[in-house]
Amino acid sequence: MKQKKPFHIMIIPTLGCPSKCSYCWSSEEGSPMMSIETIYEVVQWLKNFRDDPVTFTFHGGEPLLAGADFYRKALPLLSGELNHLNPNFALQTNLWKLTPELAQVLAEYDIPIGSSLDGPEALNDLQRSEGYYERTMRGYEIAREHGLQVQFICTFTSYSVQFKEDIFNYFLENGLTLKLHPALPSLRSHGPDKWALDPGEYGELLVYLLDKYLENMGRIEVRNINDYCRCVFTNRGTVCTFVDCMESTFAVGPDGSIYPCYRFVGMPQYVMGHVHDRPSQEDLAHSAAGVRMLQFKEHVDRECKGCKHIRYCRGGCPYNAMVPASGEIKGVDPHCKAYKRIFDEISDRFNKEMMGSFGLETGGPSAGPMMTAKPGIMSLMMSIALK
Ligand code: SF4
Ligand code: SF4
Repeated sequence: MKQKKPFHIMIIPTLGCPSKCSYCWSSEEGSPMMSIETIYEVVQWLKNFRDDPVTFTFHGGEPLLAGADFYRKALPLLSGELNHLNPNFALQTNLWKLTPELAQVLAEYDIPIGSSLDGPEALNDLQRSEGYYERTMRGYEIAREHGLQVQFICTFTSYSVQFKEDIFNYFLENGLTLKLHPALPSLRSHGPDKWALDPGEYGELLVYLLDKYLENMGRIEVRNINDYCRCVFTNRGTVCTFVDCMESTFAVGPDGSIYPCYRFVGMPQYVMGHVHDRPSQEDLAHSAAGVRMLQFKEHVDRECKGCKHIRYCRGGCPYNAMVPASGEIKGVDPHCKAYKRIFDEISDRFNKEMMGSFGLETGGPSAGPMMTAKPGIMSLMMSIALK
């Protein structure tokens, strides 16, 4: 029987956004708004595109700017007409525009929401914009009143990383899952560069968060650490950064243009096709942008050949890799240093704990990881496996 390979379509209703976060490069003033006709074209395109389960993520810009009427029409179209693809939905939003009406539409489809908070209010507003925190919290309340699940992504910048303890404690004390995102440089402009987190510092931040997570097991979830552990223990990537995303992810911009990922939306040189032409997977792979994405895969096979993490790292994110070379493929993801640091740390600790539990380090049976007072990687792995 043919194995199913889930794929991901990001829908970008607009690149517009009411916030002006200092390090953001994925919004654009005056961006057009996707029409419902474009969603209809998406449906026609995907009807015979492939026969695998699909996840649609509404992303931006700020996707809620499209309004309740857009979602009231788009969701039944996508879920009803593409029923054979077993569609799932997700949404990434700052929540400012969430109204009870919109929340009700999203709740009907049980859509999990990803939002953004960079930590305590003062720090968050300094990085994002004055009044951001309060507006997001207002939307968060509406989401909760309607039973919607919200998880926050926390962007660590070259500035906020010095407050990592305050940020961790904020998420812990507020009972929030922590998912971190490093501020990145951009292909579009040099503005965000000064906020970008240095890869070495990012690696140390990940190890710090691993320790804090273990210290506070059962009281908080650090999603990225779970993902890194899963990669090491299953020997395969479990998030887009650590798989060959070019075979499974596409983004549709406001005008129906198809791109490799939301990060490229709005840049004409990365258009792979248009939904109204109903391109096949092969057509997209043969476009100039498709060829470049596949070049990255080949580049990783060569450049990362000797790395013990290659199976579950796959050279990281191709977008990140293209930024320093102005869109060319000349290296792997510059976060390689951070990935190696955390992957090494997890595998070394695991091996040590395994040896300890078999008494190989002490010369005889020891208390083992399960009986030590301080939880180790193996306890974390078990808690992840039980989820
Ligand atoms: S380009 Fe980067 S962010 Fe986009 S899907 Fe690929 S790995 Fe993920
Ligand atoms: S850790 Fe670095 S060298 Fe290893 S696979 Fe990832 S990007 Fe390549």
